[in-house]
Amino acid sequence: MDSFKKIKEDVLDCKRCSLRKEREKKCYLPVAGEGNLKAKILIVGEAPGLKEAESGKPFQGRAGKILDELMESVRMERKNVYITNILKDRPPGNRNPERREIKSCAPFLDRQIRLIKPKAILLLGNFSARHVFERCGLEFCGISKARARAYEARFGKAKVKLIPLYHPAAATYNPNLKRLMKSDFKKIMKHL
Ligand code: URA
Repeated sequence: MDSFKKIKEDVLDCKRCSLRKEREKKCYLPVAGEGNLKAKILIVGEAPGLKEAESGKPFQGRAGKILDELMESVRMERKNVYITNILKDRPPGNRNPERREIKSCAPFLDRQIRLIKPKAILLLGNFSARHVFERCGLEFCGISKARARAYEARFGKAKVKLIPLYHPAAATYNPNLKRLMKSDFKKIMKHL
């Protein structure tokens, strides 16, 4: 039977893409995910950044602070959700995930979803939203159009709501977005 411990071990051992070499060269840690293993809400970001690769935990840097602020604004707590990323290792220089890296790493997210059985998955940013939509056989129309709406989907036999949101890092480039993101978080609470 699968377990979170087994997933963490398999992530550590994974040689499916070159990010593992980068991890070893820089003495980074893989970031499998963290939080409540029975969470009703799963949050999926893009990939670990520097702070995450140094600590082995998701959303620790600037984007993490913004995510905390957004969650606090709706009284959502890290201890009640599970947070992970599509990629479990840091892409060099925080570049975008490559298609083949997503393909290599995606089975870990599949296993996490199967174990947690979340009722809703908050998809932060275009990469994670596109990936999970396609994985569930849905077409994704881009984050600007799809954000803050709930899409009924099936992951295997399980029903799940997919909720795309802007990636919190977007507010580090455009501080005006934070207000919009807060109102998106408020709006999605009715689906959770
Ligand atoms: N950005 C992400 O998408 N995930 C993290 O864990 C940190 C920054």
